[in-house]
Amino acid sequence: MRLEGKVALISGGARGQGAAEARLFVQEGAAVVIGDILDDEGMKLEAEIRELGGHITFVHLDVTDAEQWTSAVNEAVTHYGKLDILVNNAGIGSTNIGGVQAPRIHDAPEEVWDQIMDVNGKGVFLGTRAALPAMLANGSGSIINISSIAGMVGLGPGSGAGSAYASSKGAVRLLTKSTAVQYALDGIRCNSVHPGYIDTAMTSRMMSEPGMREMRIAATPLGRIGTVDDIANGVLFLASDESSFMTGSELVIDGGYTAQ
Ligand code: NAP
Repeated sequence: MRLEGKVALISGGARGQGAAEARLFVQEGAAVVIGDILDDEGMKLEAEIRELGGHITFVHLDVTDAEQWTSAVNEAVTHYGKLDILVNNAGIGSTNIGGVQAPRIHDAPEEVWDQIMDVNGKGVFLGTRAALPAMLANGSGSIINISSIAGMVGLGPGSGAGSAYASSKGAVRLLTKSTAVQYALDGIRCNSVHPGYIDTAMTSRMMSEPGMREMRIAATPLGRIGTVDDIANGVLFLASDESSFMTGSELVIDGGYTAQ
């Protein structure tokens, strides 16, 4: 029970990595609010976990909407009494923009940049801003921002959402460090997680293209694509008190991809 008595809010929690984190957090004793734009999937996950006796609530949350963030935080505080953990997990890639394979920057459409920065960048700022008052009132907190290996190294042409995606994830990496240094004395920690290639709906289209999966595996020293549980285990560590001396750090979970 590594999260006994804690209350967490996970954005983009209806499926993929967010759903795996929700399941694991509940198993470890937390009460969890999941927010997502996918209402059917979110309510299904809520029902599944409640049937097993877990404390979980789904709320509709578009991370680009400040008011919906306020409602999601209020749901955690009114329903479960406080907010200890925020996982800024929601994000979009090329799948969400019609499978566009972003060309190089001189041909990149402006609207793709805006859409990706809005969800992946501004969404994390809005979530952090909404959660901080509850954490300040609590005198402690752990914020985990899901960046990417694309927040550490540049992406080439034909790599999904390309430069916009990498820029948005780089913004998440540095917003994390600013949050960490601004709120350290308030007992609030903030760390980023940098997944490599993980099997989820976000990557399924790219992975199904001929040769793409094999190419990604070959580029990964540990020789496989990651799973949602690989990421959830790292997020659990950062959410728990086991990481109490960590803030502003980058947890890379990529099978060694960026070590080369
Ligand atoms: P996923 O299965 O697509 O899950 C992301 C969830 O966020 C989906 O339910 C998605 O809904 C939701 N979402 C999208 N826009 C939203 C919004 N405006 N407000 C609230 N929820 C929204 O993808 P995932 O792989 O689990 O991704 C989780 C995080 O990991 C993302 O930040 C992603 O960038 C990052 N990441 C993923 C990989 C990878 O290889 N999978 C690698 C590095 C980093 P829709 O499906 O309707 O958009």
